[in-house]
Amino acid sequence: MMLKAKTLGENMLEGSGATSDNSSQEKAWSSLWKIGVPSKVKVFLWRLARHSLSTTDVLHHRNMSYVSACPLCGADDSWRHALVSCTMARCVWALS
Ligand SMILES: [Zn+2]
Repeated sequence: MMLKAKTLGENMLEGSGATSDNSSQEKAWSSLWKIGVPSKVKVFLWRLARHSLSTTDVLHHRNMSYVSACPLCGADDSWRHALVSCTMARCVWALS
């Protein structure tokens, strides 16, 4: 589900299929909003797809942070790093 939302967001950001695939994107977003999960999860997925999670690379790009490195481990930050590849994220996933 998260990868589907991310792929949808990446396609929107890249502009691929913006005209011919517009109805399928609307259908995908409609199906995302109809998923039976709390609205905060839907908003999180939407922000993930729109690349608007407040990771330090996004904050740095918006001139809201001096550094773009992960504050926990110092590696280059991104949504993928924050959710999957950061050592702290891996610890959280291991505990769940
Ligand atoms: Zn990290």
